[in-house]
Amino acid sequence: MPTHLRSAWLKTLGELALILAGAALLGLLVHQVWPVVALVCLGMVAWHYWRLRKLLQRLSSRQRLAPAQGVGVWNELDRVLYRGQNEMRSRKRRLLAILRAYRAAAAALPDAVVVVERNSQRALWFNKAATALLGLKYPDDIDQSIVARLQPLPLAHWLAAGRNAEPLHDVASPIDETLRLNLRLISYSDDYWLLVARDVSKLLRLEQMRRDFVANVSHELRTPLTVVHGYLDMLDPQDMPEWAPMLVEMQKQSQRMTQLVEDLLTISRLEARDHLPDEDVPMASMLATLRREAEALSGGKHAIAVSDEAGIDLWGSNKELHSAFSNLVSNAVRYTPAGGSIGIRFAREGKGAVLSVHDTGYGIPAQHIPRLTERFYRVSTSRSRETGGTGLGLSIVKHVLNLHQARLTIDSEVGHGSTFSVHFGADRIHPRDTHTQLQTVSA
Ligand code: ADP
Repeated sequence: MPTHLRSAWLKTLGELALILAGAALLGLLVHQVWPVVALVCLGMVAWHYWRLRKLLQRLSSRQRLAPAQGVGVWNELDRVLYRGQNEMRSRKRRLLAILRAYRAAAAALPDAVVVVERNSQRALWFNKAATALLGLKYPDDIDQSIVARLQPLPLAHWLAAGRNAEPLHDVASPIDETLRLNLRLISYSDDYWLLVARDVSKLLRLEQMRRDFVANVSHELRTPLTVVHGYLDMLDPQDMPEWAPMLVEMQKQSQRMTQLVEDLLTISRLEARDHLPDEDVPMASMLATLRREAEALSGGKHAIAVSDEAGIDLWGSNKELHSAFSNLVSNAVRYTPAGGSIGIRFAREGKGAVLSVHDTGYGIPAQHIPRLTERFYRVSTSRSRETGGTGLGLSIVKHVLNLHQARLTIDSEVGHGSTFSVHFGADRIHPRDTHTQLQTVSA
């Protein structure tokens, strides 16, 4: 026990002993010891009750306590309570200051932030940007259903998905069609969610400008290139032997440039689409075409095997899927040295299907794999050029697959080969009409 508490206790006990001794003395004088002692004890109990009542009154009136003076247990209790109350007040002040600072920071954010109560989907708080971007008004929209208030936005479905809600990209603001927003739902506690809306109009405009620029440049280059390429093709190196090496190189480079422009235009075209036609894609003939292309490109230097184990067909765009698959097949042939083998396999996978292209080629170091579908990303620029690559093949594959909600996975081991697999969901497959299963044939 601290010394000041001990001395307070000693003083209180000393007072008690003195009062009792005084009472006993008084009792002796008036020859009524026990009645006098009992009376004094009663008086003391009453006094303690009175102090207790005073203390309870002060505590329950939530008044600020005055610091107690003097010694004794009651004064000590007063002092302890006074200290506790002061500490609590300063903690509350500190917490309020932190809360105000957080609110000010959230209010000043350029993104719209809305605190949504999970069960009722009501807006509990929002910042100034929520007024500018989403049209929420203070105080009318506080405690209102966010789904009803932001009506044209598809929020009901999105909020129902809860934690699994994917961000919504490029949606129009409910107050201005030209304002494009990205929406995210952040579940920061079990009961409250944060709806964050970011204005991406400027970013999308820039992105559109970039796309238009690439598309226009490619388009403008196409005509002069066709002319140059056409004339170069008309020249026969055998007619002018001294020019032959240069002519061959010029033809090769103009062919490369033409392919580059074509690939850039393909990407621009794919980027401008948000969906492709859902045609029946007969996989038996698709696989047969891929085999023919692989054989033509390989020129007999590789063993090519095609296996159709799925017995189903796909829904999608014949032209674009063919372009994606043939890019994978062409890569497999181009990045596999002579004598290697290429395998094209179409099989069921869960409720969907997978088309994989396997090769026994150079393989790809693991650190390059995540970036392969970026435009112009190459593991080895010289090898890609040597084999006639533009660096855009896998980027085209990625765009085509995105438009089919399909996924590309890459497994590779340096020196052993690679497998590029395209995974299709259940809604992309359907039973084949004619059962023309291709047999696995090795060439
Ligand atoms: P490129 O026209 O250069 O082949 P792609 O976009 O088709 O461009 O491929 C990007 C890069 O990925 C290639 O440059 C190559 O380094 C690597 N790559 C693609 N397919 C394979 C493969 N089957 N084996 C090894 N490397 C590959």
